[in-house]
Amino acid sequence: MSDTILSVKNLTANVDGTPILKGVNLEIKAGEIHAIMGRNGSGKSTFSKVLTGHPDYEVTGGEVIYLGENLLEKEPHERSLGGIFLAFQYPLEIPGVSNLDFLRVAYNARQKHLGKEEVDSFDFEEIVEEKLGVVQMNPSFLGRSLNEGFSGGEKKRNEILQMALLDPTLGILDEIDSGLDIDALKIVAGGVNQLTTPDNAFLLITHYQRLLDYIQPHYVHVMYDGRIVKTGGKELALELEQKGYDFLDQQVLAEVG
Ligand code: ADP
Ligand code: MG
Repeated sequence: MSDTILSVKNLTANVDGTPILKGVNLEIKAGEIHAIMGRNGSGKSTFSKVLTGHPDYEVTGGEVIYLGENLLEKEPHERSLGGIFLAFQYPLEIPGVSNLDFLRVAYNARQKHLGKEEVDSFDFEEIVEEKLGVVQMNPSFLGRSLNEGFSGGEKKRNEILQMALLDPTLGILDEIDSGLDIDALKIVAGGVNQLTTPDNAFLLITHYQRLLDYIQPHYVHVMYDGRIVKTGGKELALELEQKGYDFLDQQVLAEVG
């Protein structure tokens, strides 16, 4: 089996008829952590939503192969059952749905898909309590409505808890660092670091390099106007931090001509 998890070639996509992704190329192998950085509005979140199959985003060209299969012809729930997990930039609050029940339904759906046994509430509590340590979360959060009244940091920790339970093959984290103070950031990053294995991969989307002080990416990509225009190692993130994103304007103009 090839160890390629995701292969994106010349992907283009529209939102409301407007081209936003203009030819994205990206290759992610098992065991790798990739970061995509870029200005606000460059298309980072659009890319993550296209990968998960969000209906507002219309793919107009290119291909996405996930674990050897055409991802673009799969329904959003098939992608998620297949091991693609997107941690949201703005997690939804769902009053009336208990966090514990929500997590168990998601967990069991994945178990079923993997041909594994589904678990009852009693056994699930044990499984989830073991995972709480990954994000240093208090068990009292399980009894509350999903994300309702959670602080920004608590929501993000809850996303990582969900991810820990679902054990994704490709975890996509869109601005998981936004709105987090340094302590919450360390906990969230520590959670992600605990979940990395030689068989899975992570795609971190971030505007700032400080997240990358705590999660070391193998590759850093810069998205600019719907394309990845530059790829490097961790040092590229530091260069962006120092120079800002403006230096790219000259560089891209020079290259595109
Ligand atoms: P980033 O995450 O890099 O900040 P986005 O992917 O969110 O960028 O946005 C890229 C561009 O697409 C922006 O110009 C944004 O206004 C537009 N866009 C994204 N989502 C929508 C949407 N649902 N409706 C209309 N425009 C959108
Ligand atoms: Mg975004």
